[in-house]
Amino acid sequence: MQYIYTFKEGNKDMRRLLGGKGANLAQMTNLGLPVPSGFTISTEACNAFYKNHNQLNNETLAQLKTALDQLSQNVGKSFNSLSKPLLVSVRSGAAISMPGMMDTILNIGLNDQTVVALAKITANERFAYDSYRRLLAMYGNVVEGISEATFDTVIEDMKHQNHYQSDLDLTTNDLKQIVSEFKKVYINKLHHEFPQNPTEQLLAAINSVFESWNNHRAEVYRRENNIPSDLGTAVNVQMMVFGNAGKDSGTGVAFTRDPATGKKHLFGEYLLNAQGEDVVAGIRTPQPISTLKEAMPHLYAQFEAIAAKLEFYYRDMQDLEFTIENGKLYMLQARDGKRTPTAAVKIAVDMVYEDLISKQEALMRIKPESVQSILYPEFDEKDLANHDFVASGLPASPGAATGQIYFTAEAAKAAHDEKQQTVILVRQDTSPEDIEGMVVSEGIVTSRGGMTSHAAVVARGMGTPAIVGVNELQVDYQKRSATISGHQLHEGDWLSVDGTQGHIYIGQIKTADTVVNENLSTLLGWAKQESHLGVYANADTPADFSQALRFGADGIGLTRTEHMFFKPERLLEMRRLIIAENAEARQLPLKRLLKMQQGDFYELYKLSAGRSVTIRLLDPPLHEFLPHDEKEIRKVAKQLDVTPTYLEQRVDSLKELNPMLGHRGDRLAVTFPDIYQMQVDAIIGAALQLLDENVIIEPHIMIPLTALKSEMSWVKDLVVNRIEQLLVNKNVRLEYTVGTMMEMPRACLTADEIAEVSDFFSFGTNDLTQLTFGYSRDDVGSFMPEYIKQGILPADPFQTVDVDGVGQLMKMAVEKGRSIKPQLPIGVCGEIGGDPKSIEFFEQIDVSYVSCSPFRVPIARLAAAQASL
Ligand code: ADP
Ligand code: MG
Ligand code: MG
Repeated sequence: MQYIYTFKEGNKDMRRLLGGKGANLAQMTNLGLPVPSGFTISTEACNAFYKNHNQLNNETLAQLKTALDQLSQNVGKSFNSLSKPLLVSVRSGAAISMPGMMDTILNIGLNDQTVVALAKITANERFAYDSYRRLLAMYGNVVEGISEATFDTVIEDMKHQNHYQSDLDLTTNDLKQIVSEFKKVYINKLHHEFPQNPTEQLLAAINSVFESWNNHRAEVYRRENNIPSDLGTAVNVQMMVFGNAGKDSGTGVAFTRDPATGKKHLFGEYLLNAQGEDVVAGIRTPQPISTLKEAMPHLYAQFEAIAAKLEFYYRDMQDLEFTIENGKLYMLQARDGKRTPTAAVKIAVDMVYEDLISKQEALMRIKPESVQSILYPEFDEKDLANHDFVASGLPASPGAATGQIYFTAEAAKAAHDEKQQTVILVRQDTSPEDIEGMVVSEGIVTSRGGMTSHAAVVARGMGTPAIVGVNELQVDYQKRSATISGHQLHEGDWLSVDGTQGHIYIGQIKTADTVVNENLSTLLGWAKQESHLGVYANADTPADFSQALRFGADGIGLTRTEHMFFKPERLLEMRRLIIAENAEARQLPLKRLLKMQQGDFYELYKLSAGRSVTIRLLDPPLHEFLPHDEKEIRKVAKQLDVTPTYLEQRVDSLKELNPMLGHRGDRLAVTFPDIYQMQVDAIIGAALQLLDENVIIEPHIMIPLTALKSEMSWVKDLVVNRIEQLLVNKNVRLEYTVGTMMEMPRACLTADEIAEVSDFFSFGTNDLTQLTFGYSRDDVGSFMPEYIKQGILPADPFQTVDVDGVGQLMKMAVEKGRSIKPQLPIGVCGEIGGDPKSIEFFEQIDVSYVSCSPFRVPIARLAAAQASL
């Protein structure tokens, strides 16, 4: 079995075997780019390692020896050589990129002899010892498990004693002393020396990388991102090149497009005279890559050309690592770059226009849920005008957020989980250990770090607003407090952050509506062309509907008329109606409600501009409109001009033990037909009003809660008779349809019968799920989380369709319904109509459209396109 592949043997399609880093190093090598030589120990070797009780097997060891000999020959350097010492890095890399999760060791091959040799050859003693102290610390940390802080403290103390500002101030002698201090750490902590034998260093490093696949950070990341644990990691062994070899050396990272906005230009940072992780770790504040253009124009041009070539080749935005050694450029890594959702959309759309990818590919590249953050509100302008920002930092991840501050991942998580607070995580910097706290935060602020620091990269990946490198911020973890530009803040205080601008505000600032940006509109337009499913909005008011139309909704799939009754003046009329003793007494409130409802429907129809609008007749039980506690009853009785005793009697008589299963929906139509008649009058009245203005509306009237064909037929007759009477009176014709919600299991079971008397179906998944499971949807909070935690349910069926149960009822209803009416329009109007996973299933069972809240319309549209592709 071949366990080891040289970079010349691999290519980008071998990720599974070589890991992402290895496959791309090989690909870059084969594209003729300047990549330091090396080889990859495969993920199969990793699995073999685990099978072999965490030891490299003999076959791997033998191949390693050959690979190393070959590498030595290629580069003309070898381990322990005093004229040409070989130094290598050992770099982990799994098939799926896991930034910062796995461990890397640089400068393997240095020891007390080779460090002297290196100093002599390069005539740069400082550089040699700088490299050695890095090896001692990284090896100590990764292989021996000594904390980074142990080593950092030694350096910090040294800097402090000498009043140094930066690592660059350390002299050669300082570095030599650091090396000897580090070696003492080994003796003190481990009771053995740092291994001087390069081969021993290499083997131990490889072992540790393989073992690190199962370290806690990696496990958390895999859990967060649903990456299977048995993929294994590969290890890359690569000749070192030195960014810390002097002033004409450096190291950096760059994206081929701006990962925050998607703009097409090189975006990145570099540090001169630095090695490896210095840029990412935020130890020194790096330079923007644009300044490299002035500092080393020739090299910048070369890098720009490489970046373009790679992007063209991978047909996606690339995240690149490079190092300059004495004026020569080396490429050390390429991978598809993480980006904000805003950037993802812009890049996908731009790449279609640049003929790099197809529209379909562009659509498949955007995770539907991710566009939610593009729709995230910015700060409300008026409210913002009352605030001045107190500090600013680097705008690492866009969007506005307001929340209560916490200084540790644990505290943030506790505040979020236990107190349901919206949380802003404020720290000096973040590391992979903080992931769980970052996930729950609405915003992230750090005092240190650059645009590619851990905090920045992770926040962008999650679409969480973040500001990093805030110099005016000091965090005191012990006191659980922070100072921002002189303002003292404590745990739990409110802070607002604008990740787009990089501005920080003290206190809470309201957020405002946003409009869909142009790129997203373009993408949503393509999505519409590609999808079978229509995407409608659940909208009760003109404001909701306008919002939905801005997001590209095809129309309204559900208007819940009862929501219109909760405005104060309407509620009063509704209450008059409910407590009326006889039909006559109901006349006046009905007449008033009619006028108001007609006005609402007129507005919705007018906005619709030819799009379909489906209006559902009254659904909830009447007692929901009545007051319940004594004080309220007295107040309302006065308004209604009845005695409190009388009102109380009416309230009592409408009380139900199980209201969700009680007197509601079309059951109200059977007992109070005049309410539905009034609503029909309002709907048709509005349509006729528009007809007078030469606008033709086709009303779609939806009956809730039907369970029986005879019941649907009774209610439909009621509605149709009323409509026909209205049309005859006016002597006009109007097309209209009367359909039913499918939300009773019995209706699904007898969908063929119901289809005979129904012009369309629309699944009400909330009630259908509630009744199929027998879970009261208002009470699931008490047990659902435990069901999910215990794995009894894979997901909350009110949020993602339960394919095996509720889904089967739906499938059956679709089939039965269409067996009677092949063209029967069938929609889904419960909240899960906007859930991407559910949409995939609805596409499979041939639903015609989904309807969801306005803010989910873009998500549903993308999901619908992806389901069709
Ligand atoms: P990560 O996966 O955490 O990014 P890497 O394996 O890419 O870890 O390495 C960490 C840092 O060390 C990077 O900045 C990388 O560019 C640098 N590095 C790795 N190998 C070499 C090498 N052979 N020569 C010079 N720098 C290297
Ligand atoms: Mg790293
Ligand atoms: Mg890297």
